[in-house]
Amino acid sequence: MPELRQNFFTKEWVIIATERAKRPEELATHRPLQIVSLFVETCPFCPGNENKTPAEIIRYPANTTEPWEVRVIPNKFAALSRDVQPTRSMQDVWRRIEGFGFHEVVIDSPDHSSCMALLPDEQVARILRVYKERYSSLGMDRRINHVTIFKSHGVDAGASLQHPHSQLIATPVIPGQVRHRLHEALRHYDDDGNCMFCHMVEREIAEQTRVVQKSEYFVAMEVFASATPFATHIFPFRHMASFGDMSATEIADLARVLRGLLARIYIGLENPDLNFTIRSGPSDYGSARHFHWYVSVIPRLTRTAGFELGSGMFINTVLPEAAAEFLRNIKIEKATGAVSYRRIGTRIQRPAGSDAGKGKPVTMN
Ligand SMILES: [Zn+2]
Ligand SMILES: [Zn+2]
Repeated sequence: MPELRQNFFTKEWVIIATERAKRPEELATHRPLQIVSLFVETCPFCPGNENKTPAEIIRYPANTTEPWEVRVIPNKFAALSRDVQPTRSMQDVWRRIEGFGFHEVVIDSPDHSSCMALLPDEQVARILRVYKERYSSLGMDRRINHVTIFKSHGVDAGASLQHPHSQLIATPVIPGQVRHRLHEALRHYDDDGNCMFCHMVEREIAEQTRVVQKSEYFVAMEVFASATPFATHIFPFRHMASFGDMSATEIADLARVLRGLLARIYIGLENPDLNFTIRSGPSDYGSARHFHWYVSVIPRLTRTAGFELGSGMFINTVLPEAAAEFLRNIKIEKATGAVSYRRIGTRIQRPAGSDAGKGKPVTMN
């Protein structure tokens, strides 16, 4: 029988459509293997083409006589401008703020052909350190209220360049999805006197069925009321409201867990397009007892159909427990180390019998 499940963090309901249920492997992209070059002459993110991007903000290593391994640059086509002030205006029912903000690109690797699932853990740790540095630095600007760190991997996830990269957008307001979770978290704290995320993690660890991977400091688990197939959260066990509070040891551990999860998805579902975002409280939220940061990974395996767009309620055809078991059983050793090929393409598997394929997915867990 189908089942309605409620997202503990947002109180939103989803339909887990067991009647239409698919085996997890049915959602694999079946993309052909194609050769991708390590270097592409026309790619602005490839080494040697640094003059095709705006001047870099930071790089790793900082010493410019050594080749860079991670670079941060302003987005050439930024959604917001650092050159205006966040001046507010209110006229009748119309409220506006001048388009102030920061939009930066993190170039994950000099290797054009790679992707985060295939990078060594140490390189993923370098990227996470750079995220943290930029997150903290942008968060110190008193005009900024929130920093979103995210990755778009593949054309269907919104990536316009193939070279592996991530992005940060710092805004003078708190985006709706974060605001919603902050409100619910505060309400939960008022009612129960604890962090709803710590509470959920503790229960999920005891329950086990949705846990994909666990380390000393982090757990990756399928979302109980997942709106889309294979939506996965990574939580730190230690209560931390802000991503910027992670220790060096925790960063190294998160790199292993994040890379491991991405590799399971890469191998098991044959390199689907995906997004991930780091959901953190505002950067000065360090000591807040009610909020807890996490990583949300969303493979883009299905498209949003009319019912989802019209109602905001999603129909998920893969049981989260089946998705967790499938990902747990993927052997990830073969994804480690450098490779010079990967699966590319834009093919998307659509649920049979649905009018999926029209419109874009509109939710992140
Ligand atoms: Zn490139
Ligand atoms: Zn917590």
